Amino acid sequence: MEEMMMMKPAWLEGLMAEKFFAGCGVHQNRRKNEKNIFCLHCCQSFCPHCLPSHHSHPLLQVRRYTQDVIRLDDLEKLIDCSYIQPYTINSAKVIFLNQRAQARSCKASGNFLFHL
Ligand SMILES: [Zn+2]
Ligand SMILES: [Zn+2]
Repeated sequence: MEEMMMMKPAWLEGLMAEKFFAGCGVHQNRRKNEKNIFCLHCCQSFCPHCLPSHHSHPLLQVRRYTQDVIRLDDLEKLIDCSYIQPYTINSAKVIFLNQRAQARSCKASGNFLFHL
């Protein structure tokens, strides 16, 4: 486990630790203020209203199916995904962010992101 984590990009830890779909503190009074975007540069999540201040940064959109996921298409634009084992939901290839739920059903796939 520890040696695999050495390969991990710095932002990945933030991505995995982040809680998405909470209301944005800056935009509490706006509609659609769920934090569903993650900035790899700032290593933080924010809502669509916060986008303008990150427009030049590499971003990942987080989607919610049965749990929080990122689409493989989105991640592929940013990093080499050849070692990632995606899941298919609604004909889209996705990667689960909730590792604890994954670890229970399949231990290997729970650690897949650390193989980057
Ligand atoms: Zn940013
Ligand atoms: Zn916001």
